[in-house]
Amino acid sequence: MKVVLFRTQGGLEVLEYTDFPTPEPGEGQVLVKLEVAALNRMDLWTRSGSSGIKVEFPHITGADGAGTIAALGPCVSGWNLGDRVVINSNLGCGHCPACVAGKDNLCRNWQLLGETVRGTYAEFVAVPDTNIYPVPEGFDLRQAAAAALVFHTAWHSLIKRGGLRPAESVLVVGASGGVNTASIQIAKLAGASVYVVGSSAEKLELAKSLGADYLIDRSQDGNWSETVYYLTGKRGVDVVVDNVGTTFPSSFRVAAKGGRILTVGNSGGPKFEIDNRYIFSKHLSIIGSSMGTRADFAQVMELVFAGKLRAILDRDYPLLEARSAQERLEKGEQQGKITLTIG
Ligand SMILES: [Zn+2]
Repeated sequence: MKVVLFRTQGGLEVLEYTDFPTPEPGEGQVLVKLEVAALNRMDLWTRSGSSGIKVEFPHITGADGAGTIAALGPCVSGWNLGDRVVINSNLGCGHCPACVAGKDNLCRNWQLLGETVRGTYAEFVAVPDTNIYPVPEGFDLRQAAAAALVFHTAWHSLIKRGGLRPAESVLVVGASGGVNTASIQIAKLAGASVYVVGSSAEKLELAKSLGADYLIDRSQDGNWSETVYYLTGKRGVDVVVDNVGTTFPSSFRVAAKGGRILTVGNSGGPKFEIDNRYIFSKHLSIIGSSMGTRADFAQVMELVFAGKLRAILDRDYPLLEARSAQERLEKGEQQGKITLTIG
């Protein structure tokens, strides 16, 4: 099969379009013929090695993908060849206490497709049959693949971990990234009022089109936490979605008493200073999460299929041009999800 792999971690130049043996689906696995893969920032970190995760070379990155079932491994039932499916990249072992309790993103033997095992920048991928979800006839596979990881992640963070309730206020720090655009939509769907801090008028326009109520352009406003504070009548917001990390000091300032700071990543860098006084005096909760459970995946994908949530699609590239696709993501030129068409 054709794949894009790398034999050593490094810059864009390590990506190689080449042939690789097609995987055999093992027990309980299906072989998916991928039609589309979607990019995530983790692809860049896995390639460069900055995430610190050891990979087996040659490595194939890519967590998101959708396509059709091309082969069934032993002990697979309920699926047929040709079924259209989207992949849930959160790979739980299925038998540890967390998995048995339905908390498979807390799995003791947790793997993430494309990060710790070979992923979707390939014509085929073998995954457990518990990690595929049926895509309705006529629904765009590109939209399904692009929605999967970001909506799964944002849903688990805002709804399950964050316990977001109607009429609460949510600030999303960042306007255009995949998880942020998903968070804006989920918060609106939950009945919250949504504040968005973005780096340009263009990015904020996108947030507005997704239903954001208050837009703050940080290229024009150096003190956005104060602006949001005043916009809320000096109360602050109930929930801050901060996947930048280095903006935590501002997020602490802008959170209301009893506020929750939700984080699923750190696009701005992993380390920053914390002024503990904000945490105890305002009764703040800092809530981390990563990926989501199988139940979350089903719930959020059904909302995507129903058109209540949608991935914002940026450019599409052929698999052969994965390097250009990653370059666009690395430069932050995209608005929404970059995808790869395969085959
Ligand atoms: Zn497990």
